[in-house]
Amino acid sequence: MADDTKSASVAEVASDVRDLLEYAATLGFQEVTAESAPKAQARAKSKMAPEDKGRALEKLRDRMGDCNLCKLHKGRTKLVFGTGNPKAEIMFIGEGPGRDEDAQGIPFVGRAGQLLTKIIEAMGYSRDEVYIANIVKCRPPDNRNPEPDEVESCIDFLIEQVEIIQPKVIVCLGSVAVRNLLGQELKITKVRGNFLDWRGTPVMPTYHPAFLLRNPNMKKPLWEDMKKVMKFLGK
Ligand code: SF4
Repeated sequence: MADDTKSASVAEVASDVRDLLEYAATLGFQEVTAESAPKAQARAKSKMAPEDKGRALEKLRDRMGDCNLCKLHKGRTKLVFGTGNPKAEIMFIGEGPGRDEDAQGIPFVGRAGQLLTKIIEAMGYSRDEVYIANIVKCRPPDNRNPEPDEVESCIDFLIEQVEIIQPKVIVCLGSVAVRNLLGQELKITKVRGNFLDWRGTPVMPTYHPAFLLRNPNMKKPLWEDMKKVMKFLGK
């Protein structure tokens, strides 16, 4: 009996190590250090069956209901949960809904959203194949940046979305997105184009499409960033 238990636990450890090594290989690591192990192991253990992801997102949306956890609920028309493929390998994260998004309840549908759609298509995807969400789900007044208490109230919903979808890579659109996801004071001009890590998932910070509308000469650097993402995904 004791021997059976021991061999079962050895088999579990071996399975965990295999998951860890496979995951590390997908990230391009040549070797796995003790430091990188816990993150990848946690991720390997929390994998959700692909067929369950859509229902899990629906349940999360149901749980949010008419959320009033922060003051942004007062001015919203529609809560903007997120849209796309629950099994997406790439997730785009922006800062929060604008006027058009608030009216339609769908992220990135205004002018900046149309530009994002073009970027996604140029990468070889349709909008339906990726997942798009924001740091906060309700529109900040006058399109101001979300305030710290609003982000604190809302960020767990996004974290749950990422944990359900488990994308291979996250693209953070602009400073507000990357700062609030990683919880660090980062300047987009300094960090863009370099993969960062969020709980074992690679994060590519790049410019927000609204910034590109004001600064069309920044389209080239953004495209360089997206080429790195495509290379990582083997596109
Ligand atoms: S922004 Fe997020 S936390 Fe605030 S009311 Fe909307 S859904 Fe709730």
